[in-house]
Amino acid sequence: MTQIRLYGCVQDSIVDGPGLRYAIFVQGCTHGCPGCHNPESQPASGGQVHDLEEVLADVRANPLVSGVTLSGGEPFEQAHACAQLAAALDGEGYDIWTYTGYLLEDLLASEDADVRTLLEHTHVLVDGPFVEAKKSLDLKWCGSSNQRLIDMPKTLAQGSVILWQPETVHIERPSRW
Ligand code: SF4
Repeated sequence: MTQIRLYGCVQDSIVDGPGLRYAIFVQGCTHGCPGCHNPESQPASGGQVHDLEEVLADVRANPLVSGVTLSGGEPFEQAHACAQLAAALDGEGYDIWTYTGYLLEDLLASEDADVRTLLEHTHVLVDGPFVEAKKSLDLKWCGSSNQRLIDMPKTLAQGSVILWQPETVHIERPSRW
């Protein structure tokens, strides 16, 4: 049975992507970004080990959750477990966002099949390290302006980076009002 080492989970997040989401913070990250928002998540030996099935059951427990965010820590440093999580949840219709300190181009160059699987089951990849000099509180879903919100299905289909655009909702007044 596959296991994953987690820093923690938030069962009802509204700050880790759009909508009501289940946020999974993996334990372990070697990027060492100065000003890291979550330094306790960096040591690979910290956190707690969980069975994937236990995590999946917790996600499924709340029918109002529509998205799952993998963050950390560094999800691609536990690519095998994160790929399995993303594949299972993508298959069940969840919107999958993955945060990484790596650049997409470097991940695409990896020969690790789990890295590829995780990319293929991620809908939005927020990539790049946190850069303190580029920090901005105006940014909605990332910490610094060098980080990109990448539409992964479009990017993989077209072979070049396509940034994610939030869906726009048009509200029209009914004609008889
Ligand atoms: S990638 Fe994220 S978790 Fe890792 S050091 Fe940078 S800010 Fe911290």
